[in-house]
Amino acid sequence: MVKKGELLYEGKAKRLYITDDETVLWVEYLNQATASNGLRKDMIQGKGELNNKITSLIFEALAKCGIRQHFVKKISETEQLIQKVEIIPLEVVLRNIAAGSFSKRLGVKEGKKLSFPIVEFYFKEDSLDDPFINDEHVLVLKIANREEIALLKAEICKVNEVLTELFHKAKIKLIDFKLEFGRLSDGSIILADEISPDTCRLWDLETNEHLDKDVYRREIGDLVSVYKEVLTRLLENEI
Ligand code: UDP
Repeated sequence: MVKKGELLYEGKAKRLYITDDETVLWVEYLNQATASNGLRKDMIQGKGELNNKITSLIFEALAKCGIRQHFVKKISETEQLIQKVEIIPLEVVLRNIAAGSFSKRLGVKEGKKLSFPIVEFYFKEDSLDDPFINDEHVLVLKIANREEIALLKAEICKVNEVLTELFHKAKIKLIDFKLEFGRLSDGSIILADEISPDTCRLWDLETNEHLDKDVYRREIGDLVSVYKEVLTRLLENEI
């Protein structure tokens, strides 16, 4: 077991620590919830534990399906070990069904199924409010080259297939989700960050009830009880 070292980075929902193994980082999931790019902030008891459990379970399922990713292991209720990567400053979003900013910007009703899954890039820069950018912006800003852009799109499509099936078994529709990727020291790109109801839109298959962070963003429900519901359903289906 590696030893926890100094704090490397504190984000909105996680703290990252170095370890005595320079290829491994120690992650602590926090109870903090934020919305509107950090303008609204609350401590929600139990959130860190739920996201750690859900993310760990999902990354294990993705690893079984051959997706290259950073997860090493869950080491406590709120902590994991991950491989150290240099995060690519992109939020890579895939949408199966119209919702959120897509619906607002393009005037498409929330809930409308898209004719095929679409991939979008957002430049991860808080001071700019994470703007929507296209492939050429990614190239010109030297965030990734053409081959890497193709790889990011192919990987998120694979993840979509695995997650759509996994959530479907839990009677949940995967509306859209955000991924982050990172580079290992050899330059190769792997999936990183978290996959949880903070980063996915999840609707009940029958009732379309929101089972994700929108309950907090839109103040329409209790975050802990819906995240618990997602975890329980995933565990019941032994993914
Ligand atoms: N998302 C995320 N982090 C962000 C922005 C979006 O994880 O900073 C996720 C969000 O949960 C949803 C998807 O990305 O599953 C698409 O979000 P959208 O662009 O619709 O933005 P929102 O409506 O959440 O502002």
